[in-house]
Amino acid sequence: MRRVVVVGAGPAGRAAAAATAAHGVEVVLVDSAPKLGGQYDRQDTRESGDRFALPSGVEYLPDSVVWAVEPAPGGHRVHVRTGPADSPERAGRALETRALVLATGAYDRSLPFPGWDLPGVYTAGAAQALAKSQGIAVGDRVIVAGTGPFLLPVATVLCSVGARVVAILEANDPVTGWMKRPGGAVAGWGKFGELARYSVLLGHHHVPMVRRSAVIAANGTDRLEAVIASRLDHDWNPVAHTERRFEVDAVAIGFGFTPQLELAVAARCDIEGGFVAVNAAQATSVPGVFAAGEITGIGGAELATHEGTIAGTAAAKLLGARVRVPFRAMRHVRSGRRFAAALQSAYPVRPGWKGWLRDDTLVCRCEEVPYGELRRAVGGLDIGGVRSLKLATRAGLGLCQGRVCGRNVAELAGLADAADGFSRRPVAAPVRLGELAEDTPVESER
Ligand SMILES: Cc1cc2nc3c(=O)[nH]c(=O)nc-3n(C[C@H](O)[C@H](O)[C@H](O)COP(=O)(O)OP(=O)(O)OC[C@H]3O[C@@H](n4cnc5c(N)ncnc54)[C@H](O)[C@@H]3O)c2cc1C
Repeated sequence: MRRVVVVGAGPAGRAAAAATAAHGVEVVLVDSAPKLGGQYDRQDTRESGDRFALPSGVEYLPDSVVWAVEPAPGGHRVHVRTGPADSPERAGRALETRALVLATGAYDRSLPFPGWDLPGVYTAGAAQALAKSQGIAVGDRVIVAGTGPFLLPVATVLCSVGARVVAILEANDPVTGWMKRPGGAVAGWGKFGELARYSVLLGHHHVPMVRRSAVIAANGTDRLEAVIASRLDHDWNPVAHTERRFEVDAVAIGFGFTPQLELAVAARCDIEGGFVAVNAAQATSVPGVFAAGEITGIGGAELATHEGTIAGTAAAKLLGARVRVPFRAMRHVRSGRRFAAALQSAYPVRPGWKGWLRDDTLVCRCEEVPYGELRRAVGGLDIGGVRSLKLATRAGLGLCQGRVCGRNVAELAGLADAADGFSRRPVAAPVRLGELAEDTPVESER
């Protein structure tokens, strides 16, 4: 059977699956989460039923992780494990396909600061996911800090589950940023309506937004007791004598997003500027592999959806379907990308964050590598790339495999190959030795 395999059931993957199925081509939609949605549309796992419906012709595999992608005759072989990650009885499948759509999304970026390894310091995405999927507030008194419009929905959902959000600290000055790219701001006009709704809700909860400020240290013995915030100059260097202490039991930190690239890197897709490079049909540099959504650029759920529609249509065409050109989606993608570029320039991560670190600040939490050790290695050894950096310091070699620290460590070491180097993980998700040794029958295309 000919089929398109779509990895990721966020806005991009769902749209890709729907577009492929609409052209009469079978689809297998694989997602590691227990419910459809991805990040933006994450559903409450405690509720039965599903907010989203998939068209017929889509075989949906929830709770299923793609742990490897490898070349196969005429296409790719996609290795899947289905079942909870901690279950010893996960079922394995090896699906061959000539048309693979990668829509694996992104995860949020944290920056290190003294005390960021204390219990009570969360990524903004984790705080949001706990609130959205289980109704849990990460603390009673919470600060949300970082940069980007994402801080607003995080603060809003925290309020909705009963947390007192003491403040939102935005490290940039977004008004100035957006004014530099008015065309991009106009292209994303719909998004501003959404942001205005969040602002109203936050006003209702008396949550102040403080611009050009950041959490530069967290204090506590066994867990977070307070954070130290500071005003920042344009480059994010703390401004002297502006430090302020906030007594909080949780802080949610988000500095934009990092695309989830390991499957694209495993498939040998070209990466440009940290994202998967695609053409107007969302085709990557590798024949038969398409990419859509946040792995091709950070632009929000709407852009991801339109890219998914184009990718799914192009994948169906590759398998011989007569397709209708998705002109509407293509138009939206053009304006969505203008908005994405403006978003990136309005909320950059500026270099002054490196000055928040002390020598004993951990830069890699899994392997407990302090900043001083990284600095000494970079100063004293001939570190030419990510590989030698990992071997010299062990940063990025722990459980998260550099997902949390990779970009930061590479920036601190002045290396340019962070996206590619830290995303080179032939085994994209943890698998047991027994699962590796299993002789999983290959489901080839007929
Ligand atoms: C933590 C977080 C929270 C966000 N919240 C908001 C928000 O509130 N508002 C907003 O406007 N935007 C939000 N965004 C931005 C948002 O991600 C996008 O706008 C939109 O969800 C992107 O859609 P996507 O389909 O590209 O990826 P996603 O929605 O991220 O979906 C990707 C899917 O791929 C799956 N996946 C990844 N790797 C594998 C694998 N190896 N095997 C199987 N499945 C895999 C993931 O489980 C996920 O379900 C958030 C982003 C993040 C990272």
